[in-house]
Amino acid sequence: MNFKKLSTQVIERIAPSPTGGLHLGHVYSAFTAYQNAKNNQGLFKLRIEDIDYTRCKLNFEKEIISNLSWLGISWDGQIMRQRNRKKTYASAIEQLLKDGLLYPCSCTRTDIKKAVSAPHTDENTNITYPGTCRRNRPTKSVKALRLDIGKAIKMCGFKKVSFFEKESIDNNFSGEQSILTSMIEHQFGDLVIARKDINTSYNLAVVIDDAAQMVTHVTRGNDLRAITPIQVLLQRLLCLPTPIYHHHKLLFEPTGKKISKRSFPDTVSSFKTRGFTPNDVIAMAFNL
Ligand code: GLU
Repeated sequence: MNFKKLSTQVIERIAPSPTGGLHLGHVYSAFTAYQNAKNNQGLFKLRIEDIDYTRCKLNFEKEIISNLSWLGISWDGQIMRQRNRKKTYASAIEQLLKDGLLYPCSCTRTDIKKAVSAPHTDENTNITYPGTCRRNRPTKSVKALRLDIGKAIKMCGFKKVSFFEKESIDNNFSGEQSILTSMIEHQFGDLVIARKDINTSYNLAVVIDDAAQMVTHVTRGNDLRAITPIQVLLQRLLCLPTPIYHHHKLLFEPTGKKISKRSFPDTVSSFKTRGFTPNDVIAMAFNL
């Protein structure tokens, strides 16, 4: 696969999954990314992460797009929709299969189900896959393709996965993060790269699409920080560039619960119908 090199221009993105409306956490991420792009005369891209056709809904997609506009956020170029990118994911899988890095798995584990949504740390109990189908090729029907993580790390030929991270706008930390590959292997094990019915996974699609949109800066919540080394590893395996990561603080309700679609049903739409202005909603997100 041939992607153009990272440009020197700042390119930020927001990549919501239309499994619900836009919530205050999205507003915070979107504005942080948007401001970084605008302050650097950069670009801001929008991508709809809708690979999970069982949970993604067109009405949520429409709602997200119209709410972003209502908040005053505009994006550059076409909206990328993952449902239109199946061929691109398939050719990346082909490449990984050719390199002998994937194997079929027939285990019916919940993590196979979860492989298509972003693993926000509070939602996933991280159980490392014991490698059953790596050792004994499956005889039952195949449910997924898994990455042989040990082989993948060896193929990359490095002991550490490094990436540049701007940790938080609050403490302004920035610097190189280095995570030992042995830790990655232990923490993640052979993770699912393609769920059979969808033929991709969140991790595969996100690295391919960030590269295709020429994203230089990924701004997202701290709950996706733990998975970043895996995404960097996939970038190395697929010869894709690594953006600069900025994992920002998570937003919490006054009760102390993390704001998410499930825990805090107040979406931008609901604030809008209750008469709040875009500025009210933005202020709310930045004052939580
Ligand atoms: N689609 C993911 C979500 O809505 C975002 C993933 C990312 O920013 O990398 O949670």
